Amino acid sequence: MTATDTALFTVRRAAAAPAASLPPFGQFIGGAFIPSTSDATVEVVNPATEEVLMQVPGGSVEDVDAAVAAALAAKAGWAAKTPQDRSAVLLRIADVIEANRELLETLEAANTGKPGAVAEDDISSAIDTFRFSAGAARTFNTPGAGDYAENHTSVILREPVGVVGVITPWNYPLLMAAWKIAPILGAGNTLVLKPSEQTPLSTLKLAELIAAEIPAGVLNIVTGSGRVTGHRISEHPDVDLVAITGSVGSGQQVAASAANTVKRVHLELGGKAPVVVFDDADLEAAAKGVRSAGFWNGGQECGSACRVLVHESVAAKFTELLVREVSEITVGTPGAGDAEIGSMISKAHYDRVLAALQDVRNDGLTIAVGGNAIEGPGYFIEPTVVTNVPASAAITSTEIFGPVVSVETFSTDEEAITRANETVYGLAASVWSTNAARALSVPRRLDFGTVWVNSHLVIANEMPWGGFKGSGYGRDLSAYALEDFSRTKHIMYNHG
Ligand code: NAD
Repeated sequence: MTATDTALFTVRRAAAAPAASLPPFGQFIGGAFIPSTSDATVEVVNPATEEVLMQVPGGSVEDVDAAVAAALAAKAGWAAKTPQDRSAVLLRIADVIEANRELLETLEAANTGKPGAVAEDDISSAIDTFRFSAGAARTFNTPGAGDYAENHTSVILREPVGVVGVITPWNYPLLMAAWKIAPILGAGNTLVLKPSEQTPLSTLKLAELIAAEIPAGVLNIVTGSGRVTGHRISEHPDVDLVAITGSVGSGQQVAASAANTVKRVHLELGGKAPVVVFDDADLEAAAKGVRSAGFWNGGQECGSACRVLVHESVAAKFTELLVREVSEITVGTPGAGDAEIGSMISKAHYDRVLAALQDVRNDGLTIAVGGNAIEGPGYFIEPTVVTNVPASAAITSTEIFGPVVSVETFSTDEEAITRANETVYGLAASVWSTNAARALSVPRRLDFGTVWVNSHLVIANEMPWGGFKGSGYGRDLSAYALEDFSRTKHIMYNHG
């Protein structure tokens, strides 16, 4: 595939990209940046310019073992702290992120190619995640102590799980790390986190910035590949729970290697969110909603509004509105003012998205707008709408994870619900209707962990986020995340 030259879309380029403040070279273990036992390094690239930002350690099994040993050594001390003390640490972390927000936004944008506005939103959300967890960690609810059996008083203790292993993806590097670090520390666990090999910089930078705020060993960061360091975290006998945000395949491998030690597993995996637009919907609002939620972060978003199911009677009108909206999307490098979408995360992912677009062409579907690479440097792809999509087309069930939205039609409510549920994923969906009965009943029949009505991709730290079916299990955000990273112990006193 070649870049278009009759371009509706071009890449707006920032005159001079702001310089990123890079983290130290090393892995953050036991409270300090230390060298890896391996000489191997991984090149970290700015995908909007193709320039190398820095090398990070390739990571080794021994590095993970050292990090787990540090987390184990810190476990009892951190678990013994009161919720108030742990909460104070989380609040200080939030303050440090806020004080360094521009630095972190610039670094995140440089490592991911995302627009400044998306990086800004990521950092704001990360700050709020720490503040929410700081409060929620002090308000656990359990059944009251009392006599539930004759002459026996029951007390429930809520304990940390222990050492938690965390594996994060590349689409929201710091935010996905925050979604785990905040509740895991809030619930009294220590942790070892491995960021994506493609985007480790903001997580390493965070460790550098907050090192003075947390006891040594409570938070450890190792770098490297999923196959080596990620695998070691998931199989390590001293890791009590492993949490991964990533693709379904990686989640399956993590769950399989965790099985030998019967450790707990927390999986936040892929998605293919249906957007069900009924004939009574506000079509302009729905089209604007898909422009925003289908292309946020360049569509590299697990809850992306990427699969529209629209009633056949309004399909032509809706498609016209959507194509107009998408034609107006601006593409650019970080720092290029008002760019709505940036680059794909890597050459490999850019090639994957372009291959998916070639499949769309091979399947005889219509590309109503976009569909091509945009002239480099950088891994840019045009915002794309695919129409005339039959029920069985591959695009209805394959997660492309790029700036590509497909449009299918349906004729009855029953068909819409059945087709929306016909996916291995169960992360998120939305329903667009002005009919109150539909707005109440349809979401209850959709098999997704989050269902928005007349909205899509709005997230609140107080509310749980997580999937059903192939999208995994376990919940991020909300008090449910703190529950997932805690264990209950029942103590029963015989006073008879
Ligand atoms: P990925 O699965 O390729 O990688 C995710 C992480 O898992 C990386 O750190 C990687 O090194 C590690 N990993 C890979 N194989 C592993 C193995 N065998 N053992 C241990 N660790 C391993 O995913 P990605 O490409 O970084 O991210 C995109 C995927 O993440 C998409 O499928 C997206 O839907 C999903 N995602 C889900 C959510 C959610 O909340 N459900 C959020 C963001 C991203």
